[in-house]
Amino acid sequence: MNTTPDKTEILNWLRETNAERLAELWRRADETRRQHVGDAVHLRGLVEISNFCARQCAYCGLRMGNENLVRYRMLADEIFAAAQQAVKFGYGTVVLQAGEDYGITTEWLAEVVRRIKSETPLAVTLSLGERSNKDLAAWRAAGADRYLLRFETSDRNLFDEIHPPLGNRECDRIEILRRLREFGFEVGSGIMVGIPGQTFASVAKDIELFRELDLDMIGIGPFIPHPATPLGSGFKIFPPVNGEQVPNNELMVYKAVALTRLVRPDANIPATTALATINKKNGRELGLQRGANVFMPNLTPLKYRRLYEIYPNKACIAETGDACNGCLGLRIKGIGRHIGSGAGGRRDRQMLPEFEAGKEFCHA
Ligand code: SAH
Repeated sequence: MNTTPDKTEILNWLRETNAERLAELWRRADETRRQHVGDAVHLRGLVEISNFCARQCAYCGLRMGNENLVRYRMLADEIFAAAQQAVKFGYGTVVLQAGEDYGITTEWLAEVVRRIKSETPLAVTLSLGERSNKDLAAWRAAGADRYLLRFETSDRNLFDEIHPPLGNRECDRIEILRRLREFGFEVGSGIMVGIPGQTFASVAKDIELFRELDLDMIGIGPFIPHPATPLGSGFKIFPPVNGEQVPNNELMVYKAVALTRLVRPDANIPATTALATINKKNGRELGLQRGANVFMPNLTPLKYRRLYEIYPNKACIAETGDACNGCLGLRIKGIGRHIGSGAGGRRDRQMLPEFEAGKEFCHA
């Protein structure tokens, strides 16, 4: 019963609506998570370092065409201060995320990374879009440990419609993921669930692709319409294919998260902010109980945070660092889990022979 689901089973689970049957999927995902990555919930402090973007993604509120958004780029000192806050709160990782902002230059960011790596024990994750080989190699050489780049959907036609190329540069996120691995990064990717035009078969293929790419981290969140984007007008632009449209609701996200845990048992899988946004009460907890093992508290300074509006009504838009830290500690404890120590990388786990499922370990 605990074998990894094949393609047909994945598709059947994605279409499942019976609550009792689904309880079985949640149980399997939770058990697999416990066996392979234990009860620790690893925390990654998210710092949204810039909302400038050169791209025109049809889903994202940061798209260049959104002229109503006040743009910001954090100063190097502000980023470093946020990283120090991550250390203070005991997080093992800081994630620097931004729009695809070419004002973030190769050397400037390399210096930011070098400073965090030399003055703190943090792992550094970057999520800065489709940058050149030169940039990626330079940031890896500066000490960046991980890179996140969601492929968003494995349906090439849908991806091309919602993610126009930059100039005449071809855009192949799968290829970039391979390259990131060659450069020595731990590699993360992921999808949005419920993109207008997305079918169940296409989400099943996404999950198959997670399996194939042997990803270290996999982020899955609901598509949330942003009114200042072409997709914000809902499902009118991309009508359902053959009458089929994957809903962008939380149940669909839990199914995708749970199945992803079954196909990639030792990956790091976050309960995403987008999931917390559509169920502010307990979306995070349910995500963590249905396959996820990572949580990404927001460390972006409050004055910038509301401007990083990839979608509206983001969860935790007003919490200060201390309040947020207290709240999430209680949430994690409340579901019988504990906060992970150390950087919590997939590779660290693989390299530690003494790691036993269910037990936390220390890197010191
Ligand atoms: N510029 C970087 C970071 C983008 S924001 C990049 O392109 O990789 C990180 C993720 O937010 C995106 O990969 C996308 O999956 C998600 N996102 C963007 N707009 C969204 C929306 N309207 N609803 C839900 N998720 C969204």
